Amino acid sequence: MNYFFTLVSIETGMSVLTGGPLSGTYRLRQIHFHWGSNDEAGSEHAVDGMKYAAELHVVHWNAEKYSSFVEAARQSDGLAVMAVFLKIGECNPQLKKITDRLDTIRIKGKKALFTNFDPSCLLPKSLDYWTYFGSLTVPPLLESVIWIVLREPISVCSEQLAKFRSLLSTAEDEVACCLLRNFRPPQPLRGREVRRN
Ligand SMILES: [Zn+2]
Repeated sequence: MNYFFTLVSIETGMSVLTGGPLSGTYRLRQIHFHWGSNDEAGSEHAVDGMKYAAELHVVHWNAEKYSSFVEAARQSDGLAVMAVFLKIGECNPQLKKITDRLDTIRIKGKKALFTNFDPSCLLPKSLDYWTYFGSLTVPPLLESVIWIVLREPISVCSEQLAKFRSLLSTAEDEVACCLLRNFRPPQPLRGREVRRN
């Protein structure tokens, strides 16, 4: 298998993912994180049964074949999600750009504007990966994702993770409730093949 790469397209100015297990070019849609109620477990994937503290998902869709993200999400080759593990260690200066802003958007529905943020700055040095066909990890759990799970984790410190846990799942007029965890546990393989580059 070839290495994939993520880059900013010169024509469109958009981040895209191409190469590796993908045919064609996948356009960046959004990034998000999964974490747990403590530093022991928060990732959605496990490696030989071991979970990481958190997991970053960089969601791309097949804009060459489909006309919208919603349409792509219903196709077996519609989405490509790069997963990056977060391992407890040093505070991560790249991640700081995000965690520093979380205090300002604690309440559900609040937004902060990011300009000139290139998510590839969050990736580890090595882009070695495992890949398999799977599903979204939030309902409706559509089987439309080419997963690319990077083998090298990036670092995160306890203080940074605590900022994610301080986010609220509730709006301004509701009784405040923290979003302590938001990961879906690993599911049975059901004959899926996991390959590595
Ligand atoms: Zn996710």
